Amino acid sequence: AKEAGRNGYRFFTAEMQRRYSRMLLLENGLRQAMERQQLRLLYQPQFSLDEGRLIGFEALLRWQHPELGMVSPAEFIPLAEKNGFIVPLGEWVLASALQQQASWRRQGLPVVRVGVNVSAVQFHHPGLCERIQAQLADSGLPPALLELELTESVMMDNPERAVEVMGQLHRLGLQLALDDFGTGYSSLSYLKRFRLARLKIDQGFVRDLLDDEEDRAIVGAIISLARNLGLQTIAEGVEHASQLALLRQMGCDQAQGYHLGRPLEAEQAGALLASQVPV
Ligand code: C2E
Ligand code: CA
Ligand code: CA
Ligand code: CA
Repeated sequence: AKEAGRNGYRFFTAEMQRRYSRMLLLENGLRQAMERQQLRLLYQPQFSLDEGRLIGFEALLRWQHPELGMVSPAEFIPLAEKNGFIVPLGEWVLASALQQQASWRRQGLPVVRVGVNVSAVQFHHPGLCERIQAQLADSGLPPALLELELTESVMMDNPERAVEVMGQLHRLGLQLALDDFGTGYSSLSYLKRFRLARLKIDQGFVRDLLDDEEDRAIVGAIISLARNLGLQTIAEGVEHASQLALLRQMGCDQAQGYHLGRPLEAEQAGALLASQVPV
């Protein structure tokens, strides 16, 4: 038993060592990743449920690491938030998404909204609004074509300041969505002051929607809350036709997920846009 314990211990430290070196490799590599063009955005399509129309894309970050292969944003975004690199990284994401949209527009493709994820650290960094305004002006795009996806964590430390920043962003004319809704610190009393266009129903509630009565009750409550506040709802993580049908029946406005479309390379997303052109 003692032997096994020791082996267990040795294994544990080796595993910890491995994870630690990976973390260092990622954390130190992030700066270069941006310069060396190892980062790119994928675009996941979003559809309206009444007409089944393509209404937008969510931009999702990818890192093609030279040694580690594809690294998930779920792994490197938290590192970037910790060391502050999320600020330049977030700016890069925003600029890339806007440039891509502007390029689709120049090609004469139908232009749809693009949603960009903004982390809480980036949101609270001073000057966010001014930089977004400048980037929008550079792109020449109507501000309403940009949506920022914020999580409930933006209101955690300083909800009054969050309300203020969201007001400024709203005045720029862009749209705001609350991501992963229902999973975080929800102060419902703030919802109305947040200038939101949309609540994103977290995929955790969509996964077992058909079998889990409680998840169904929560999704129903989110949809009716949104409706009463004049907000749209978009469900994420829709993987099956049955989930889509039920969401539509429940009155959800929009959806995204593998059933409707995986995150696409920019070129494929452009082709999807082109297929929307009425002929
Ligand atoms: P998120 O904002 O909740 O994004 C949705 C995640 O669900 C994405 O994972 C997407 O690829 C995945 N997904 C989409 N449809 C389905 C489905 O039908 N089933 C399942 N199981 N998953 C689906 P991804 O791309 O790995 O991103 C993970 C998280 O990383 C995002 O979660 C977001 O929080 C963060 N992230 C991604 N890009 C950025 C970025 O540019 N900036 C910031 N700050 N965070 C980002
Ligand atoms: Ca998101
Ligand atoms: Ca989400
Ligand atoms: Ca999430």
